Amino acid sequence: MHAQHPPHRVLQARKRIALIAHDHKKAELIEWAVYNKTALSRHELLATGTTGKLLEDALDVPIKKMLSGPLGGDQQIGARIAEGKVDVMIFFWDPMEAQPHDPDIKALLRLAVVWNIPIACDRATADFLMTSPLMNQEYRAILPDYNMYLHRSI
Ligand code: PGA
Repeated sequence: MHAQHPPHRVLQARKRIALIAHDHKKAELIEWAVYNKTALSRHELLATGTTGKLLEDALDVPIKKMLSGPLGGDQQIGARIAEGKVDVMIFFWDPMEAQPHDPDIKALLRLAVVWNIPIACDRATADFLMTSPLMNQEYRAILPDYNMYLHRSI
């Protein structure tokens, strides 16, 4: 069916990395990001509002800031994923506390999987991601066949 190129998206060597942390996870994300500052600064960074402000102060690198998560920031990042404008997501969500914007979080995680982008929801996975050679080279993310959804008529 797709003898030559199955549906895919190309993630460039310079990645667009979205960073998000819930309040009780912010300190952990900042510490991780400072440790990985050199590697992170090779890429383009975006974040939800508060996370972005903290990261900008800690890293001293420019970060594109969305709205705060509970005000729609997660949705903004989700929309960018759908548009092919985010390549990697580091999302330290809090497994111990309910969030007011829980539906948005679920939607964001869903879109990341729909578009097959690499995501890390904990520090160990974030370490594995950042040390992957694929982080600094072009990568072809294979997608399921979404033709049915692209050409829908009911
Ligand atoms: P924040 O949003 O970075 O503005 O705190 C994160 C979130 O709760 O999704």
